[in-house]
Amino acid sequence: MDDCIFCQIVDGDIPSRTVYEDEDVFAFLDVNPLAPGHTLVIPKGHYETLGDVPGDLGADVLTAVHRLVPVVEDAVDADGSTVAFNNGEAAGQEVPHVHCHIVPRFEGDGHGPIHALFGGPGEMDDDELDAIADRISDAAN
Ligand code: AMP
Ligand code: ZN
Repeated sequence: MDDCIFCQIVDGDIPSRTVYEDEDVFAFLDVNPLAPGHTLVIPKGHYETLGDVPGDLGADVLTAVHRLVPVVEDAVDADGSTVAFNNGEAAGQEVPHVHCHIVPRFEGDGHGPIHALFGGPGEMDDDELDAIADRISDAAN
């Protein structure tokens, strides 16, 4: 994708602070870090969302995330990390090339868990929860 910033980073046409690279996966520091060490992990190929990524490649991305999380945390002496995909425009994804954020977290940083995005759980009764669980398990298994 010629006009995709992340494809241009993978191709070396836009500079990045590259921290990891293998045949299919690339990782670099976020240019506007939410915390020191904020890292983005992407497949080299252009796919917009997680659902678009072929299974093998999704596993490769997760393998790189698994490898990088402790390394990134150690590099900035973090106490933990928030690891997340903004998956799709509705979820706040701005760059349409799927990417995993590794955001180091520090005791007392005050940013809260992902739950804080939603301001608490939604109201759902047991029938609704059962129906949703059935739809997901029918399609996933
Ligand atoms: P998202 O909102 O999940 O699409 O996140 C996109 C992320 O990409 C943001 O955190 C940006 O700061 C980051 N970003 C945008 N352009 C660049 C760039 N050229 N190099 C590194 N990170 C970038
Ligand atoms: Zn791309």
